[in-house]
Amino acid sequence: EKQRRTRNFAIVAHIDHGKSTLADRILELTDTVAKRDMQDQILDNMDLERERGITIKLNAVELTYHAKDGVDYVFHLIDTPGHVDFSYEVSRSLAACEGALLVVDATQGVQAQTLANVYLAIDDDLEIIPVINKIDLPSAEPEKTKKEIEDVIGLDTSDAVEISAKSGFGVEDLLEEIVQKIPAPKGDIEAPLKALVFDSIYDDYRGVVLSVRLYDGVVKPGDKIRLMNSGSEYEVTEVGVNSPKPLQRTYLMAGDVGYITASIKDITKTRVGDTVTDADHPTEKALPGYREMIPMVYAGLYPTDNAKFDDLREALEKLKLNDASLEFEPESSEALGFGFRCGFLGLLHMDVVQERLEREFGLDLITTAPSVTYHVDLNDGSTIEVENPSEMPDVSSIKDIKEPFVKASIMVPNDYVGAVMEMCQDRRGQFVTMEYLDDARVNVIYQMPLSEIIFNFFDKLKSSTHGYASLDYELSEYRQSDLVKVDILLNGDKVDALSFISHKQFAAGRSREIVKKLKGIIPRQNFEIPIQAAIGATIIARTNIKAYRKDVTSRIHTGDPDRRAKLLEKQKRGKKRMKAVGKVDIPQEAFMAVLQTD
Ligand code: GDP
Ligand code: MG
Repeated sequence: EKQRRTRNFAIVAHIDHGKSTLADRILELTDTVAKRDMQDQILDNMDLERERGITIKLNAVELTYHAKDGVDYVFHLIDTPGHVDFSYEVSRSLAACEGALLVVDATQGVQAQTLANVYLAIDDDLEIIPVINKIDLPSAEPEKTKKEIEDVIGLDTSDAVEISAKSGFGVEDLLEEIVQKIPAPKGDIEAPLKALVFDSIYDDYRGVVLSVRLYDGVVKPGDKIRLMNSGSEYEVTEVGVNSPKPLQRTYLMAGDVGYITASIKDITKTRVGDTVTDADHPTEKALPGYREMIPMVYAGLYPTDNAKFDDLREALEKLKLNDASLEFEPESSEALGFGFRCGFLGLLHMDVVQERLEREFGLDLITTAPSVTYHVDLNDGSTIEVENPSEMPDVSSIKDIKEPFVKASIMVPNDYVGAVMEMCQDRRGQFVTMEYLDDARVNVIYQMPLSEIIFNFFDKLKSSTHGYASLDYELSEYRQSDLVKVDILLNGDKVDALSFISHKQFAAGRSREIVKKLKGIIPRQNFEIPIQAAIGATIIARTNIKAYRKDVTSRIHTGDPDRRAKLLEKQKRGKKRMKAVGKVDIPQEAFMAVLQTD
């Protein structure tokens, strides 16, 4: 029967170790995608993924593998992202599988997200096949990489497969290994329908499209289904699989990974992690679902055009279907008007959300300076959570402020340990321990304030180790720190969306840098604009943006018509991601200036 011929697996690895390229080769070898339709990283189908060369979303495909034993096996392969901000996508993918391919780049060895992702797979009791990739490269060290996998992770590598995802070498052997080692799904086809929603997306015509893994039962068009979490019921209009284009099917059965549509228009009724069952013969217990993600950073999202507030709300609700880790609630800013305070898993996630909202929903947005969540103990004995720096109460009412700390693990070659430790120390890190991975690399563990790690730590780490360091972190606890709120004043007016929280020791230095940055970013006006940074009523840094000279403007108006049109066009484009605050136009970069200080 079909279940015995099914294999469900995810591909996990550190970023750039070759997951998406391996998925390409598998699709090619199994003739899932015709040669003429083939392109690199074909599953990275979002423009944003292709432009940046990274996987952001999980992608599930069905394919048929004609094995050496003469049997046709049905594979459901899920490609996953490697960046720490998107580990939620990985954990959801793994819950739909019986096995995982752990891809490790033989020139790089075990890296921070190799560990983080393999632990997720181990927690889910998946069968793990170690895959040593990039063995075509002269610098590849497959034996050393295997030893690392054994020593650091504790996985047996006697059955590891050595491949080149680029050339295709070894991939055929890997496919056989998948058949042999990854268990077939065990579900009861006769039992009531029980399916896990591991992803979803909103389609203007079909409503919500649910990505599901069936554990028990069968589902087909016309069936009445119930989403167990919300209790809402629908009639199934279509079921199918992605291969990688959507293919309609007459039914899906236990063990299958595919999609269901049911004219679900009310997007608030669906949630990733929910269980789908038969409305007339419901299963007794829902599947465990997913744990809620705790956002690491918060930022305000504002439409550049205030009239687009409702459009932004609708866009956020629809995007949340496809990005369950996104959180938002309305907020308002004196400077920016009405918008939403959003929670993200990291800065890359924040950047991706802003881009997706703009591209997929045609909005123009401003994101404000990101911030972590502070726990503030007040003198009256109460404690509040502050996600927006401008809402930090007056110093006179504060007893103490606690900030989130993370356990950061940094894998780095011996030669760079000194540089890494210095960087961590400079950012208020506290050394915890150091573990040797092999004779040339160590895993350095620090307790660090989350704010110091989120704001440009990673880029600095990469550049000071020539790209050899990898970083993973997890929230550990809240600790009291000596923190102050710094306000930024433009033309004498406080711009609430530019306020930030800083350690007292860094406040003056950072303020001077930010004020200087803003001077370079905010366009000149026909009057002078003072920029000031202040703690309470005390100014700690200041500079002026000079007024532009008269002749500069007149040139715009007298130039030849072609040139004038170009200038106007340029100005119009420049308007994008710009917000008028009082008499001053503030471009998007200004809100990010706080991130780029040393
Ligand atoms: P992912 O982030 O794990 O999905 O990695 P990608 O599949 O996007 O690959 C990252 C980079 O490594 C791309 O430039 C690939 O062309 C390259 N790459 C992947 N596999 C191999 C391989 O086997 N050999 C070589 N030389 N390069 C590879
Ligand atoms: Mg990828």
